[in-house]
Amino acid sequence: MIVMKFGGSSIDSSQAIRNVAGIVRKKRNRQPIVVLSACNDTTDNLELAVNVAVTGETDKALAELDKIYEYHRQMAGELQLENHWEKIFNDKSRKYYEELKILLTGASMLRDIAKKSMDRVLAFGERFSTLLFSCYLNSTGTPAQLLDSTEFLKTTEQHTSAQPILEESNPHIERTFNNSVGDGKIPVVQGFIGSTLDGAVTTLGRGGSDFTASIIGAALQVEDIEIWSDVDGVLTADPTIIEHAKVVDRMSFREASELAYFGARVLHPDSILPAVERDIPIHIYNSRNVDSSGSLIRAEFPDNNHTVVKSIAYKEAINVLNLTSTRMFQAHDFLRKVFEVLDRHEMVADLVSTSEVSISIAFHRQTGYHAVMDELSKFASVSLESSKAIVCLVGEKMRARKGLLGTIFQTLDQINVNMVAQGASEVNLSFVIDEKDIERTVKKLHQVFFTG
Ligand code: ASP
Ligand code: MG
Repeated sequence: MIVMKFGGSSIDSSQAIRNVAGIVRKKRNRQPIVVLSACNDTTDNLELAVNVAVTGETDKALAELDKIYEYHRQMAGELQLENHWEKIFNDKSRKYYEELKILLTGASMLRDIAKKSMDRVLAFGERFSTLLFSCYLNSTGTPAQLLDSTEFLKTTEQHTSAQPILEESNPHIERTFNNSVGDGKIPVVQGFIGSTLDGAVTTLGRGGSDFTASIIGAALQVEDIEIWSDVDGVLTADPTIIEHAKVVDRMSFREASELAYFGARVLHPDSILPAVERDIPIHIYNSRNVDSSGSLIRAEFPDNNHTVVKSIAYKEAINVLNLTSTRMFQAHDFLRKVFEVLDRHEMVADLVSTSEVSISIAFHRQTGYHAVMDELSKFASVSLESSKAIVCLVGEKMRARKGLLGTIFQTLDQINVNMVAQGASEVNLSFVIDEKDIERTVKKLHQVFFTG
């Protein structure tokens, strides 16, 4: 058994849906379970309709809803569903539309919406996409079974960012899928949505479909989880800077988490955790480029002894606080005092480098420096630098590589490097540069580590 999850951009048109159906069919012998996001940006559009509704402009809100409904109906038309399945699609989608109309009208009358109702609205994005996709599979001779995630994915009551309750969900998941896979039909389910123990619809937070895929995959101990989107996989660098960035074929979970933290466009590490904990391989594939081999993420690669840099990431808009002790504190007292102040102000550091009497701390946070600096200046001289960036090299065991720092400094000899530090995890090496040097820095490093 495998789980195949497709993101919104992989099913954004009738042509894209045909293509995805082909991808799924090819894997039929592996007993795929299909998890779908909402088509394209339907979730954003539902949110927009709600935002218009709460201003009291009912007609405008319903016009937004009409667009969403028409978009799906048009795709259904283009997919030329066979009569029986066309009727099922029309009847069910009409019901979805009617309920959305009621919810939006209500929000508009109240000029407000409860989070509970918001979840009901948002869930329809995934309901439309899975309805359409399952009807299309059936209508082209591939038996599929549309299932309802709210029946097996049980969550807390934190509407719009509910947490799954695995001990409740897992038995339901096992029962549901063992039955339907046994039928020989391909199960098609909604990502992102679930329900509370008493049945109210919930959502797992934006981008939550990967989470659903990982929860189902872990509960069923599937052989593989495939996350399909519109990127070839995890890349060696930001493709907007490095046009020919390469796909990283294998990554540990720690490496992927580190990259995600630095804003690389990979999946959210928390969302794949249930699967990683059970050591289920997670593949990232591109539905628009099926020939690309993708990236494979696993908890650990036991044979990984390569001291290589896997990827280069960066974070813009960094501020650096520089502090020098003005009193004769012991070094550790000084550090303790500094971190006490930061803690109180909930300032989370991205990078820290220290010497006997001075300390530099990099933050991504943009506001709140005034009060912090006031307090710190009671025992330290303080300065703040802005328009900085953190560049981060990621790779397990990379730091065992001989002369790594030497290579970096040699490569960047024209660039002003402010702080060098290992981040909180052992799989990265980070340093601070001026924001304006990002492109130059990433290009030079990429040249040395990947194309040189
Ligand atoms: N459709 C939801 C969203 O856009 C969930 C997902 O795409 O993963 O956030
Ligand atoms: Mg989406």
